[in-house]
Amino acid sequence: MAKKFEGRSVGIDLGTTYSCVAVWLEEKNRVEIIHNDQGNKTTPSVVAFTHDQRFIGDAAKNQAAANPENTVFDAKRLIGRKYSDSIVQDDIKLWPFKVVAGADGRPIINVKYKGEEKKYCAEEISSMILTKMREVAETYLMSPVKNVVVTVPAHFNDSQRNATIDAGAIAGLNVIKIINEPTAAAIAYGFDKRIDCDDKQNIFVFDLGGGTFDVSILTINGGVFEVKATAGNTHLGGEDFDNRMVNYFVDEFKKKNKVDISGNSKSLRRLRTACERAKRTLSFAFVTSVEVDSLYQGIDFSSSITRAKFEEINIDLFNECMKIVESCLSDSKIDKNDIDDVVLVGGSSRIPKVQDLMRDFFKGKDLCKSINPDEAVAYGAAVQAAILSEGFKTVPNLVLRDVTPLSLGISADFGAVMSVVIPRNTSVPVKKTQRYITAYDNQRTATFKVYEGERARAADNNLLGLFSLSCLPGAPRGQPLEVCFAIDENGLLTVSATEKSTGDKKEITICNKKGRFSSFETNRMIKEAETYKVEDENFLRKAKVMNDLDYCVYNMKNALKKEVNLKVTPQESQKFNNAIIVAMNLLDKNSQQKETAFLEDHLKKLQNMLKKLKVKEIKVKEIKVKELKTKSGEHEAKSHKFSLSRFLFK
Ligand code: AMP
Repeated sequence: MAKKFEGRSVGIDLGTTYSCVAVWLEEKNRVEIIHNDQGNKTTPSVVAFTHDQRFIGDAAKNQAAANPENTVFDAKRLIGRKYSDSIVQDDIKLWPFKVVAGADGRPIINVKYKGEEKKYCAEEISSMILTKMREVAETYLMSPVKNVVVTVPAHFNDSQRNATIDAGAIAGLNVIKIINEPTAAAIAYGFDKRIDCDDKQNIFVFDLGGGTFDVSILTINGGVFEVKATAGNTHLGGEDFDNRMVNYFVDEFKKKNKVDISGNSKSLRRLRTACERAKRTLSFAFVTSVEVDSLYQGIDFSSSITRAKFEEINIDLFNECMKIVESCLSDSKIDKNDIDDVVLVGGSSRIPKVQDLMRDFFKGKDLCKSINPDEAVAYGAAVQAAILSEGFKTVPNLVLRDVTPLSLGISADFGAVMSVVIPRNTSVPVKKTQRYITAYDNQRTATFKVYEGERARAADNNLLGLFSLSCLPGAPRGQPLEVCFAIDENGLLTVSATEKSTGDKKEITICNKKGRFSSFETNRMIKEAETYKVEDENFLRKAKVMNDLDYCVYNMKNALKKEVNLKVTPQESQKFNNAIIVAMNLLDKNSQQKETAFLEDHLKKLQNMLKKLKVKEIKVKEIKVKELKTKSGEHEAKSHKFSLSRFLFK
């Protein structure tokens, strides 16, 4: 049996728009989706930077309209991509925050934090979100979390997967496995339906989220979850539907008011928020209004949109989803009539038109909506995390068999054609060997370029890395060379080549590191992430002491109003009032003296004074009670005497 990981493990669905964390509870024999500090089970994948603080999650999203340039979202759309990527270029036009090209062609996000320009790569932003999710879990579990299973879209390529692992490392987490989102959702489905050993079912998982779209066909049989085929688009989801609506209303605003708001990030951000809300409403209503006060230059915006219009402006995107559904089914070689259940996951799968198209495609079949589309992926990740960790005995031992989403191959220096070694949708882990021959006499070196993708011309695919065998024996052309591709359970690839002609075995192995951080860079970022954590803690500590100081001043002032009754001497009164003046100066916005330790010191002094005042107050109260008691005792004694005398006189 494989070695299991020590320490607490959780599953995290690191989504484009929302993230979710879940854990297997051994004592309850079930998965718990963990709610955050706001009581929500999903947390916005948003990080914001202000002049004095960093926000992650709900707090970041809530202040987005006021601080759009420094509120970063959609990091998942950037992760593992190059700045020059056309997808990145298109997105940049829509984002209010600044993205520039980094030294190695990586997209770099520029923000202002504490008055300084800061640069972050997508991995760092994702690591901040992972850190937040980890904190959410640790607060709930009341113990540290060490390991994590992170989910990624099935169509994430090698560099996107590696970048996600880097993000986990920067957050100080041990990423024990990366699993595909639809596969995780299928696990949740299997648990929900309690599919037992004898059931063999073909299920179709349709996962349309905020930024990515994935479909997978799986066979579930006796605890084995075997992916048969997967297809998707890592850049298609709810945000694209929002963008269409934003553009629609930008045009309308232009027509009505003769002004173009498309260059104004604050207006666009506010309009986008309103559009996203409208889109959700249209999933249950046929028409909804979109209103934004003072959208641009004091002009209010008020309009409405029907469900039909929303469908019309997005129909090409919905059709694109259906094309992917069709191609996945054809890759799987499973007839649509043999699909037992169609499982909907991802927030955007709630869109009625999407559901109609799916129902029609599967000839009127009822779609399975019994699992929560927002939580299913994290649920499956938590099950997987428990299976891989020590100390979980109640979790059923599932077996996952996933597939490669993209074909992998080489172009040896003999030609420009992509020679596929592992075709897409091959089950992983997998190891495949292919034979090549030297191209000319006395060839001393052979260079291999490793690609992923479906294009016939190697250069049109995604270059993963290259390596050379440089000690060939120099024999006539046609000498055999063996190339071996191995993909591990995380979908990570290792390629090796061996020269066999002389029986002399030379071997070179490359682990694809392209686009990944060096350990030096990763360590630097881990350190930075720790610094941010300390900074955040310091900020909260300071905010708390300021708040306590303010409260203490208020209580002191109230207590001193009663100083005559409390018998405060003039010297004491002077001392207390001076302390209050110092505290008020410290609380003043323009005050320079803001060292937390100094504030805490003064707070302590003030709290001691308040304590003294309270003691005096209690004493005064006790004296009063005593006096009252004596008075009422005398009164009682008197009335007792009176009634006694009346009795005696009777
Ligand atoms: P996910 O990535 O699965 O968290 O999905 C988030 C996306 O789902 C966002 O784009 C949301 O706007 C979208 N979404 C959530 N609820 C609904 C709904 N009721 N109707 C349409 N879209 C929704």
